[in-house]
Amino acid sequence: MATSFIRSLLIEDNVVHARLILSLLEKAEAVSFDVVHVDTLAAGLARLERGDIDVVLLDLVLPDSQELDTFMRVRADVPDIPVVILTGLEDINLAGRAVEAGAQAYLVKGQINSAQLERSIRYAIERTRAQSGEWDSPMFRLAQQQFLKAAQLMNLDDNIRQRLLFPQRAQVVTFPFRRDKHEQVETVFGYRVQHVLTMGPTKGGIRYHQDVNLGEVSALAMWMSWKCALMQLPYGGAKGGVRVDPTGFSRKELQRLTRRFTSEIIGMIGPDKDIPAPDMGTDENVMAWIMDTYSQQVGYSVPEVVTGKPVVLGGSLGRKEATGRGVVYAIEDAAKHLGMKLSQCTAVIQGFGNVGSHVARFLAEDGVKIIAVSDATTGIYNPHGLSVGSLLEYVREHRFLEGFPDGEAISNAELLELPCDILAPAALQNQITLDNAPRIKCKLLAEGANGPTSLEADEILNDRGIFILPDVLANAGGVTVSYFEWVQGTQNYMWSHEEINGRLHKIMTDAFHSTLQRSQRDHLDMRTAALIEGIDRITQAKLLRGIFP
Ligand code: NAD
Repeated sequence: MATSFIRSLLIEDNVVHARLILSLLEKAEAVSFDVVHVDTLAAGLARLERGDIDVVLLDLVLPDSQELDTFMRVRADVPDIPVVILTGLEDINLAGRAVEAGAQAYLVKGQINSAQLERSIRYAIERTRAQSGEWDSPMFRLAQQQFLKAAQLMNLDDNIRQRLLFPQRAQVVTFPFRRDKHEQVETVFGYRVQHVLTMGPTKGGIRYHQDVNLGEVSALAMWMSWKCALMQLPYGGAKGGVRVDPTGFSRKELQRLTRRFTSEIIGMIGPDKDIPAPDMGTDENVMAWIMDTYSQQVGYSVPEVVTGKPVVLGGSLGRKEATGRGVVYAIEDAAKHLGMKLSQCTAVIQGFGNVGSHVARFLAEDGVKIIAVSDATTGIYNPHGLSVGSLLEYVREHRFLEGFPDGEAISNAELLELPCDILAPAALQNQITLDNAPRIKCKLLAEGANGPTSLEADEILNDRGIFILPDVLANAGGVTVSYFEWVQGTQNYMWSHEEINGRLHKIMTDAFHSTLQRSQRDHLDMRTAALIEGIDRITQAKLLRGIFP
């Protein structure tokens, strides 16, 4: 352990709470605490100015400062000192936002014991000293905060909580990439992260995007863990990515990049170890090249090393459209629950790639009027309804939506705020934020993308009574049919389209109802209910397996 004597500043105005924290710190066994206690922010900042403080224990609601501002003022004065938030149960969303803004952790007063308090402080200091910023990204903080909120509400065993807060394995690679017409060889960054190895092999997509980093890939891996557990699939979560903008790449370039990346991470993946699939910027061709590269290395064909590959190479019928189909199954269940008649509903879809275009297609088949769609180039709005067939044809020909004639061009920001019944973000993370959440005008938000809604926005939408189908539930159709593909591959037995869609439908509907039931029974929002369903299952498995050695 790094520290045996910790100088702490406790900023807390409630005398009873302060006494409780002081008594818990006194009982600490592994380290001793030297605690200075003050009851206003001004006194706390004055003490920090004198130096010699290792950690700040901070109540956010003080006589001279309120809420997030309290944390921001401490952070501005002492950016390098770890801050642990002390909160009441009614304020955990606020505490979560402080962690999203850079606090190291939060603890609920009245629900902690001495060992938990001591450990949280120790870990906070160790992380700051190790400058373990490699994980740090807004998306990873969002994933951690969603997890911590669920952990708090389900009273999760603290050992498990600490264990699940970071991925179990992560590989960072750099490798050379030659463009077709350029003299220079680019050095690019790639990642593969496995979050939980307890449940079986790990599973998760590979993303090619210019914003990919270790934190983002780790967040996506964490969400995959909850998603697989929620759907009761025998996988832990993983994710991979390469930090490139693939939009201008030729097929040759894409293939070169994919083959080299695969050989860099080849020790980590395998049909019984970790099974990649498509995600943003990758498709079934990319999966075919990964499968071929892996097979060349081991000396025989291993189709089960990836899912989402072309059907002729052992891909599953229905995999390509599975995520979009699953989103629409979830929307159908939610509409039934909310008493919405789909044939009288309008929908807006952000992103017109694999997920978004299939959501549009299947919603249109249900009689929903698609009034706006978008991609990276533009949004297209037509209040009388867009023809999904024409949109698909246009994109097939022109690659992007820009220039589509039968609608008005609008920005992605405008698109999200259109009045509609169903809004399906199916492109990027962090699209619905504190800024635009008050102006979102849908009744049902179906998250096709991963992490499209920030923590603050989530709270606002819930308060405004918008029904949310969270990403871990709504977009789980992709990994579910990936699982079918893997099973078919390992058994060398192909299922029919009907069999696949029927099984997918049942799994999606079961997951929707178990989430809804938990949400109603425990008075939780749908996201927290879905996360708790998943986390609960992983916790049971972890406790049963025990610890090696
Ligand atoms: P994709 O690459 O096929 O499509 C992405 C779409 O988003 C494209 O139309 C692109 O032009 C658009 N886009 C990019 N930047 C945009 C921006 N700034 N504004 C609006 N649109 C933008 O990717 P995909 O596979 O459809 O994945 C989309 C989302 O769904 C991602 O968050 C991904 O993690 C998630 N997801 C995908 C799957 C799957 O099976 N493919 C499964 C689960 C979740």
